[in-house]
Amino acid sequence: LDTVLEAGLRRFPILERAGLAEKLCWAGAYEITPDHMPILGKHPELEGYVDASGFSGHGIMHAPATGLLIAEEILDGRAHTIDIDPLRITRFRGVLRRELNVI
Ligand SMILES: Cc1cc2nc3c(=O)[nH]c(=O)nc-3n(C[C@H](O)[C@H](O)[C@H](O)COP(=O)(O)OP(=O)(O)OC[C@H]3O[C@@H](n4cnc5c(N)ncnc54)[C@H](O)[C@@H]3O)c2cc1C
Repeated sequence: LDTVLEAGLRRFPILERAGLAEKLCWAGAYEITPDHMPILGKHPELEGYVDASGFSGHGIMHAPATGLLIAEEILDGRAHTIDIDPLRITRFRGVLRRELNVI
């Protein structure tokens, strides 16, 4: 927290007068994949294991689409609203295209 505060105060000195409720502060970890894209879909070897993980800091905005695609993957055998092959775990066996447009 001290490190973050120091950087914040450097940019916005007015924060010094804002006060800080330390007990309301929390930290969350980003789960980052090597290409910053999520892992979606059935695992090729583990029967009954379906990935919807690795959202790399943008999983909230992906949540509705993820829910739809994973429901299709389970109920229909394969996601079909969009092609999720580029997001399957098997992509880590090939050359990765890193997402550069989101943090
Ligand atoms: C500080 C911060 C800011 C963010 N801001 C944004 C943003 O602005 N926009 C955006 O799109 N995304 C944002 N994200 C990313 C987003 O929050 C995540 O990508 C998203 O929440 C991931 O969803 P998830 O369901 O994969 O995992 P989670 O939301 O982490 O859910 C996993 C759940 O599993 C539970 N769990 C863990 N282990 C077990 C176990 N053994 N048994 C049972 N339950 C278990 C956990 O308690 C948790 O409830 C942010 C993340 C952080 C940390």
